[in-house]
Amino acid sequence: MIELRNVSKTFSRNGNPFLALDQIDLKIEQGDIFGVIGASGAGKSTLLRLINHLESPTQGEVIINGASLQSFNAAQLNAARKNIGMIFQNFNLLNAKTVYHNVAIPLILQGRDKAFIQARVRELLEFVNLSDKTDSYPDELSGGQKQRVGIARALATNPSILLCDEATSALDPHTTVQILLLLKEINQRYGITIVLITHEMTVIQKICNKVAVIAGGRVVEHGEVLSLFADPQHPVTASFVHTVIHDRLPDRVVQLLREHDGGALLRLEFVGSTARQPLINQVIRQYAIEVNILFANMSEVQETILGFMIVQLRGELPQTEAAIRYLSEAGVKIIHV
Ligand code: ADP
Repeated sequence: MIELRNVSKTFSRNGNPFLALDQIDLKIEQGDIFGVIGASGAGKSTLLRLINHLESPTQGEVIINGASLQSFNAAQLNAARKNIGMIFQNFNLLNAKTVYHNVAIPLILQGRDKAFIQARVRELLEFVNLSDKTDSYPDELSGGQKQRVGIARALATNPSILLCDEATSALDPHTTVQILLLLKEINQRYGITIVLITHEMTVIQKICNKVAVIAGGRVVEHGEVLSLFADPQHPVTASFVHTVIHDRLPDRVVQLLREHDGGALLRLEFVGSTARQPLINQVIRQYAIEVNILFANMSEVQETILGFMIVQLRGELPQTEAAIRYLSEAGVKIIHV
């Protein structure tokens, strides 16, 4: 488990203190794929650098598997770092070295013998599906292939934690999905805890089970990915969620609907099994009201269906109220628009 307890980090900027991280409390459990999302300058990289102790906190503690990194001497820190692999947005490969050599580097630094290194590199390149590129140079590879080399190198020493620094930001959407699926496979097959930082909510949606939203050096919201997508509390979280889940009508459209058509304008949210029931059909039949569907959208988050609908109910007031009660009792979350 990785734990940040009341962690703050202050940098010196032109001689003035600058608070880059402010009282961060986070727990990342073994086996999590934990996403940290925030805009540029929010403090994501600093947080990652605290976890692998490239930076030390000005205040608070970073605790990994029960041990506080601050209490470690240089040798203990080195050992702790070997337990943490890292991949980067720009891959950080040595261009003058072959794929084989790039993956072998951490093992050479560990002083492993040649036979061990050969066997391990072969196994890793097979796992990331790059066996045929063993003797190629990074310049001869696509972005996705370079990141696979980066992943193989990060896994070479069998770490229990993998840190991903905007690992897919330089890749096209198709390659991004492939790399994210590979990360998920690594997490599931080897139980490796993954901490990734990103500015893209699609990355969080695709593979994370937990997420922390960071803004201005503070964690403004954190929790299970599904509940954060379904019910964001902080405006920064909501704005990230809205980049992937569209659940609103433009203000002007709402205004026009209100002015001309009347009726109850509702935003309905369906999660999981509620999304699979023909509830609108039931409402029309049971309550003899008209339902005008203005907008509907379904997404998948954490293998759960998340559906949004904006509807206008038109009918007699008692029937409309009864229909709303029916939907609410069936588990639909209702907000009057
Ligand atoms: P992000 O990864 O979210 O873009 P960073 O963690 O890189 O954000 O940076 C957070 C803030 O801390 C930024 O305003 C950045 O300029 C500042 N910062 C980061 N590292 C240093 C440093 N070594 N010295 C001074 N300021 C820094």
